[in-house]
Amino acid sequence: MIIAIDGPAGSGKSTIANELSHAFGFAKLDTGAMYRTVAFVCADRGVDLDDEGAVTDIADHLDISFDTEADPVRVFADGREVTTEIRTPQTDRIVSKVSAYPGVRHALLACQRAFARDRDVVAEGRDIGTVVFPNAELKVFLTADPRERAKRRVLQRHPGASIDDAHIAAEIEETLADLARRDDLDAHRQTAPLKAADDAVHIDSTAYGIDEIVAKIAELSRTRRA
Ligand code: C5P
Repeated sequence: MIIAIDGPAGSGKSTIANELSHAFGFAKLDTGAMYRTVAFVCADRGVDLDDEGAVTDIADHLDISFDTEADPVRVFADGREVTTEIRTPQTDRIVSKVSAYPGVRHALLACQRAFARDRDVVAEGRDIGTVVFPNAELKVFLTADPRERAKRRVLQRHPGASIDDAHIAAEIEETLADLARRDDLDAHRQTAPLKAADDAVHIDSTAYGIDEIVAKIAELSRTRRA
């Protein structure tokens, strides 16, 4: 079975996909991590991000692998661990440029489909239900109020911090701007834009706790499996 979870940045996809994969014993496929890895490697090797051919060449030849037994999942590029590097604000800033290139998407699509061959998967991203796994048994499109998404992201980076702290408040504003920019690029690119599949179940996570959403999706998937 494949459960597809799409939605904009910071909507809670990763946390929810994690919980579901543990609850069901499914493998988790974080496609955002793959685009982030390509972006990080390009920057690290000094590749000009405006050079579509050079960026695509990296995506074509890069071996991206996961240690899915680890929690959180560890990510490797040609055997080198990049788990932390792909989550920095620098990578946030460049990833949507790289992910808009059709050749990059083509290269990663093959890896994503290969990952799900012969196993049950919870896959999260932007185009899972529309392009990667259009036949997924359950598709969820997860959204949340932009300010709430920015707040969650920042509090994830600084566990226990208060939003009344001036530094945290400023970081929320910066993150809000970054998410808006990224969502805009992701939603308006030509190839596989961020979009809900016609048959996706829409869930707005603004007012719900993670547990409530996980329970709702788990219930939906049990119904679909039956
Ligand atoms: O999910 P995450 O925020 O880690 O994704 C990082 C970026 O990777 C997105 O902003 C988007 O540009 C790209 N992405 C994509 N298609 C996917 C998953 C992620 O284009 N299926």
